[in-house]
Amino acid sequence: GTRLPRPVQKRVMVVANQKGGVGKTTTTVNLAASLALHGARVLVIDLDPQGNASTALGIDHHAEVPSIYDVLVESKPLAEVVQPVPDVEGLFCAPATIDLAGAEIELVSLVARESRLQRAIQAYEQPLDYILIDCPPSLGLLTVNAMVAGAEVLIPIQCEYYALEGLGQLLRNVDLVRGHLNPTLHVSTILLTMYDGRTRLASQVAEEVRSHFGEEVLRTSIPRSVRISEAPSYGQTVLTYDPGSSGALSYLEAAREIALRGVGVHYDPQHAHMGH
Ligand code: ADP
Ligand code: MG
Repeated sequence: GTRLPRPVQKRVMVVANQKGGVGKTTTTVNLAASLALHGARVLVIDLDPQGNASTALGIDHHAEVPSIYDVLVESKPLAEVVQPVPDVEGLFCAPATIDLAGAEIELVSLVARESRLQRAIQAYEQPLDYILIDCPPSLGLLTVNAMVAGAEVLIPIQCEYYALEGLGQLLRNVDLVRGHLNPTLHVSTILLTMYDGRTRLASQVAEEVRSHFGEEVLRTSIPRSVRISEAPSYGQTVLTYDPGSSGALSYLEAAREIALRGVGVHYDPQHAHMGH
C-alpha cells in the first residue's frame, strides 16, 4: 500500500457494538492489516473469548498459549503475550483463549477491574501507531476495559434491518465511561459494513446512519464480499488472501481515511465504486 501519515500519538481504537455478526472482528483484522500495509505498526488486542480475531490473523490461541486473559486476570505483561502476525510486517496480535470467557466474572472481584487493560497498555513499551481492540458482543467488563483503555470508539454498522437498534445503549455506555472513568473517550468512527449497493434497504440504512451520525461516518463503506468471509478460514486477512478484491481495496481505503482524519488532512475519495 501507499505510505500514510503516522499519528503523532498512538491511537487506541475500540471496535465495539454489542450486536453480534455486524463485522467487528472482520473490521478489526482487515483494518489493522491495511494500516500495517500502509506502513504503520499495529497491535490487535483480541478481547472476545471466541478468539475469532486471533484465528483470522493466523495466531495460535489454543488453551495453553499466553493470552490477554493472563494480562487481565494474572497481570502478565502484554509484551509476554503479543505475537507477530505471519506475512504482515508491522502487525501484531495479543490473542484470546477460551478462558477469557471466565474473565467477565473473575474481573469483578479484582482491584481496578475496569482499568486493567489500560494499565497493561500503558506499561507496554513497544512503539506502536495503532492499537485496535476487538470487543465481544456485550457491554460487560471486557468491553468496559477496552473503553477505559482507548480514546476512540469505532462502531461497525451492518447495513441491515434494525441497524440502529441497540446503538442507544452502546452510546449511553460510552457516555458513562467518559463521565466516570475515561474523559477522552468518544465515538470517532462509524463504518458501514456488508453494504450491498444493489439493494434499496442498504442505501436507506446508510442514509439513516449518515443523517444520524454525520461526520463520524466514514465515506468509505465495506461491500458484502465472499472473499472477505472466506479469508479467516485460511488464517488470513483479505489483504493477503485476495489483495485485489473489492473487499481488500475497501478496507485499504477505510484505513487511508482513518489515518488522514487522525492528522486532520482532508480525505479525498479515490475509489468511486466503493459505495458512497
Ligand atoms: P462480529 O465480530 O461483529 O460478530 P464478524 O466480523 O465476525 O462480526 O462478521 C460476522 C460474519 O459476517 C462473519 O461470518 C464474517 O465472515 C461475515 N462478514 C463480515 N463482513 C463481511 C463482508 N463485508 N462481506 C461478507 N461477509 C462478511
Ligand atoms: Mg467478533
